[in-house]
Amino acid sequence: MGSSSRIADGRTAVVVGAGPNGLAAGCVLARAGMRVTVLEQHSSPGGGARTAGLIEPGVLHDVCATSLPLAVSSPCFQQLDIEQCGVRWVHPPYPMAHPFPDGTAAVLSRDIRETAESFGDARDAKIYSRLMTPLVQRWPDLIGQILSPLRIPRHPFLLARFGLSAIRSGLGLASMFRSERARGFMAGLAAHSGLPLDQSPGAAFALVLAAAGHAAGWPFVAGGTQHLVESLAARLAEYGGAIVTGCPVADTCDLPPADVYLFDVTPRQLVQIAGDWLPQSYRRRLTRYRYGPGVFKMDWVLTAPVPWAADECREAGVIHLGGNIEEIQESERAPHQGRIADLPLLLLAQPTLFDPSRAPAGRHVLWGYCHVPNGSQENVRANIERQIERFAPGFADVVVGRISMNCRHLEQYNPNLVGGDIGAGLYNWTQLFTRPVARLIPWATPNPRLFICSASTPPGGGVHGMCGCNSASTALNALRRQ
Ligand SMILES: Cc1cc2nc3c(=O)[nH]c(=O)nc-3n(C[C@H](O)[C@H](O)[C@H](O)COP(=O)(O)OP(=O)(O)OC[C@H]3O[C@@H](n4cnc5c(N)ncnc54)[C@H](O)[C@@H]3O)c2cc1C
Repeated sequence: MGSSSRIADGRTAVVVGAGPNGLAAGCVLARAGMRVTVLEQHSSPGGGARTAGLIEPGVLHDVCATSLPLAVSSPCFQQLDIEQCGVRWVHPPYPMAHPFPDGTAAVLSRDIRETAESFGDARDAKIYSRLMTPLVQRWPDLIGQILSPLRIPRHPFLLARFGLSAIRSGLGLASMFRSERARGFMAGLAAHSGLPLDQSPGAAFALVLAAAGHAAGWPFVAGGTQHLVESLAARLAEYGGAIVTGCPVADTCDLPPADVYLFDVTPRQLVQIAGDWLPQSYRRRLTRYRYGPGVFKMDWVLTAPVPWAADECREAGVIHLGGNIEEIQESERAPHQGRIADLPLLLLAQPTLFDPSRAPAGRHVLWGYCHVPNGSQENVRANIERQIERFAPGFADVVVGRISMNCRHLEQYNPNLVGGDIGAGLYNWTQLFTRPVARLIPWATPNPRLFICSASTPPGGGVHGMCGCNSASTALNALRRQ
């Protein structure tokens, strides 16, 4: 995280992009004494962490991120004390439920044993408990190591234990279990990687998300994720930094003079904006950066909670709706083959069940997305609603409003969502650890004044601010050496 001592008093920094990483970077630099300006193309800061009334007045939807397992454990946000700035976490009784067509569900509970028992198979329950207990018991050490810059591990045995299972594909991890419920549950978690289930390291996503669920929960922010953005903006203002909205940066000519520039953008945009500030060889490597599948995002206004067949789903913040592992495998393979699955795996969230402040009485919101081919402009609404109806008969009767965004809409809303990729790049082996290119210090570029701070750098996607913190620490170290 670097030093918070005022080592850079009076030096200037410009951050391009006010997503959670850009704002976190701005806070770290301003706290160190730099004069920081954050330039944001949108009319408000927040990037993938905004909340807005999209359908009916007074009904609030998280436009992008909603369930925040990494934010609540983030060393960056802890150091910036975002809770003191007004973030209040809302923890549903279950972080996640995974229903099956027979009307039952496996649950991710805060209690490892309850999760294990929800598989309905004593052998699988034992395997799950053995797998998760050491990770959960040492969660602060593990997440600190995963989210921090690559370095000689402080907890090598813990990391090795995690790594041995994490290097597998989602399918490989699921194959440790024999029951349909445990296998489907693991597949749903691994699908967050956006990889086909047979590609590694999908298991890493499943293990981190499951351990986070047990150790820290998958909370929402009361009132919407926007409050997290507002707390970061308040911290930045407190440290003397400024945000300028409605300010797209298309070229280096658009940038005011500064000692350092941090870009909260993905490699493709960086090449377009600041390619002439970078040597050709590095630029070429950036253009080889690969993006992942896109998503089709939907938001609904409902007159009542979703009428789930499985009772457990009424107690869960997030629902993984994809049925058994074979169905999930087909769903997650299709986007990589340029297809959309008939019954796609849906990641759904139902925040108003636990946070009534987001909607007036008699109204609920539902949030959800599925993976589609990168850049797809197809309307997947019918597939999505058919899948929900399958697990919640009567769903259509409670819907009073809906809005959707295909990949093109998402990229227009936020240029970092290249082709609708919400992960700022594919999470295959190389790009998980060496984003955006293989380099000892990935946030630095060959230009000593130019740094990258987006989710296209380690530790990658999700709202946790760690890419921004790591990048800002790198910039401060560089200034210290000058
Ligand atoms: C639909 C969806 C659902 C998601 N769900 C979750 C979730 O539940 N939990 C979770 O943890 N994460 C989730 N994510 C991922 C999360 O939102 C991102 O990983 C995170 O926001 C990345 O932060 P960032 O600061 O790197 O980039 P972003 O949040 O994308 O911010 C980049 C900012 O830079 C601005 N910008 C880009 N180009 C320019 C330019 N040229 N000039 C000026 N400004 C520019 C953009 O407008 C944007 O504000 C989701 C994302 C999406 C899209």
